[in-house]
Amino acid sequence: MADKNNIEKITTELKSKKMIALVAPSFVAEFQYPKILIQLKKLGFDKVTELTFGAKLVNREYHSQLAKSKRLLIASPCPGIVELIKKRYPKYKKNLALIDSPMIAIAKVCKKYHPKHKTVFISPCDYKKIEVSRTKYVDYVIDYEQLHDLIKKNKLSKVNIPKKKPLFNKFYNDYTKIYPLAGGLAKTAHLKDVIKKNEVKSIDGVKKVMKFLDNPDPKVRFLDVLFCDGGCIGGPRTSKKLTIAQKRKKVINYMKKSQGKNIPEDRKGIYDKAKGLKFTRKSF
Ligand code: SF4
Repeated sequence: MADKNNIEKITTELKSKKMIALVAPSFVAEFQYPKILIQLKKLGFDKVTELTFGAKLVNREYHSQLAKSKRLLIASPCPGIVELIKKRYPKYKKNLALIDSPMIAIAKVCKKYHPKHKTVFISPCDYKKIEVSRTKYVDYVIDYEQLHDLIKKNKLSKVNIPKKKPLFNKFYNDYTKIYPLAGGLAKTAHLKDVIKKNEVKSIDGVKKVMKFLDNPDPKVRFLDVLFCDGGCIGGPRTSKKLTIAQKRKKVINYMKKSQGKNIPEDRKGIYDKAKGLKFTRKSF
């Protein structure tokens, strides 16, 4: 794990190798947009992409699995939850969705289109570092605190934003921008036709998750859970200057502003672009 989070090594490679930043969807509560795109490019990233298309691809798998089976399915994009279940609630391990996280999904897509680029996940938490250490699709990980340090060290806190605002490079999707919020997966996976509203339970915060797992509601068929209070916007490597409510507002505003935007066709995250890729997994 240490090697994939070796900042010295990453910064050296940024000078000599082509790299893609995979930005966690909670980024907008932490960094200024679109300034962060310029800062990442100036740090040496060749391309910068959001995880939103990865979330859309993953959602399709949740929809399909919930349509096929009536047994309890526990969402697995949050590695904090996966570790909790493996260590404290092993009886639920069989219920964890054998589906890639949006991070792995978008990394697979990026590797398909840019096989020679290194992928670097920009992360709100340390659990994601564990997940990165176990996949071949993500080469490196930088957490938000480390990225703030890099921006400061490279004197990039103030950068000029051109009149023509920069865009994320590829694989754009709007509605999944709320993924880092509590219930983000369940709200964006178009589940209405496969599961009743009262069969879905969204919980954020490890204490509340444990309370549910200790006393599960038998009606619930899909558990959309995130380890941190508020979801990823409350991740341990996020700044605490804003409240969860303020961060939530930023994510929602960002999603609303991006809806209906005229995005060039080649930048859109459409299913055809992931043709031939699989987003399911065999085990945890
Ligand atoms: S909810 Fe917390 S632990 Fe889970 S992925 Fe988000 S930041 Fe990491």
